[in-house]
Amino acid sequence: MTISLIDGFSRPITYLRVSVTDKCNLRCVYCMPEGGLPWLRRDEILTYEEIAAIVRAAASVGVRAVRLTGGEPLVRRNLSRLAAAIAAVPGIEDLAISTNGLLLEEQLDELVAAGVRRINLSLDTLRAERFEAIARRPGLDAVLRGIDAAIAAGLAPVKLNCVVMRGHNDDELADFAALTRERPIYVRFIEVMPVQENVALQRDAYVASDEILRRLAVIGELRPVAGPSGNGPARYFAFDGAAGAVGVISPLSHDYCERCNRVRLTADGRLRLCLFGDHAIDLRAPLRAGAATERIAEILRSAMLIKPERHHLRLGETASRMRAFSEIGG
Ligand code: SAM
Ligand code: SF4
Repeated sequence: MTISLIDGFSRPITYLRVSVTDKCNLRCVYCMPEGGLPWLRRDEILTYEEIAAIVRAAASVGVRAVRLTGGEPLVRRNLSRLAAAIAAVPGIEDLAISTNGLLLEEQLDELVAAGVRRINLSLDTLRAERFEAIARRPGLDAVLRGIDAAIAAGLAPVKLNCVVMRGHNDDELADFAALTRERPIYVRFIEVMPVQENVALQRDAYVASDEILRRLAVIGELRPVAGPSGNGPARYFAFDGAAGAVGVISPLSHDYCERCNRVRLTADGRLRLCLFGDHAIDLRAPLRAGAATERIAEILRSAMLIKPERHHLRLGETASRMRAFSEIGG
């Protein structure tokens, strides 16, 4: 099967992030307001059959990897049913999930049986009270059990995403990095990105990835390594003899737009061409009007014309209509 999703800047698009819900069981300070969002109505959200139909169309034009995300994907009922449907789509070679891990331990077996092979877990602190301050709900123990379960189940790589915030968790860089010495864990430190919910936090707590690496270098010598396979934008470094590695993801200080290989499907069926900005195309209406796979594939191809070359966000800016990550299909 050839890749025919190529955007106007000659980038092959092979990776689809699918937001299965806008809802979440946490309220991370950098992502969502404490009171939640005006949630989508049930009929606005794509059904699993509709999502699978879009994945089939995407695979027919070269998409090879799918990541289920949200909101929190594991709060949507029977997620493993969707996972199995996607894993069965010809051409899809890689199915992963991004989760906050709260419900992972109880769902892991069925997700693995359905075909999920890779997991990214979000974890911003290893201290219980802090977890409750950052996520605005308790749950550290459940997340740690989820991590253990994922490693025990042989999922590889297990990646931990840690959003670094000055004065909130930046004194834990060494503790997170230490996790990579003995266990096959890939800790990725992420620069906090601006959304409407976090303008002040982003301004005051942003730590650039170069500073993160400088501070890690004090703990021990890190050498650049290839990192695990995947579709991600991280740069990886490892301590000598470590089982895992640390990485940095720098959407702002060193954007990775020129290597962009991805588009996003929001929970309500819009194809978003860039994480930032308003470039999106509705797939739900044509799908519900009975469009066949070939027609959806055609729409996907034409969407390539509006995929922007790069995002233009800089530190301290917030995209005009930027909403929480769950709304945009983080
Ligand atoms: N709920 C799942 C989770 O937390 O992993 C999946 C969705 S979440 C939106 C995906 C990733 O985006 C998480 O790793 C989260 O930490 C990250 N994220 C959310 N808001 C962010 C922000 N403002 N800046 C940087 N990363 C952010
Ligand atoms: Fe929920 Fe993930 Fe956003 Fe945290 S980052 S509020 S876990 S969607």
